[in-house]
Amino acid sequence: MAVFHDEVEIEDFEYDEETETYFYPCPCGDRFAISKEDLENGEEVATCPSCSLIVRVIYDKELFMSGEVVSAPSSSKADLVKC
Ligand SMILES: [Zn+2]
Repeated sequence: MAVFHDEVEIEDFEYDEETETYFYPCPCGDRFAISKEDLENGEEVATCPSCSLIVRVIYDKELFMSGEVVSAPSSSKADLVKC
């Protein structure tokens, strides 16, 4: 298993709209990167292109993963009216 350098919430990442990629500063001077597509696929590892460090991205997968809409089960109650 991979050893994470850190765990970072997605809110702390910087989003680049042009490349649709989230960035977070790496101690080596470069930046960890994870694309929006990766997040949508359930990926949670951001990698740094300049060193071997990786961080785990903390985020709500349901907000990113599209296609599956989870809705609360609707319980229809039959109204019994007795006179
Ligand atoms: Zn680095």
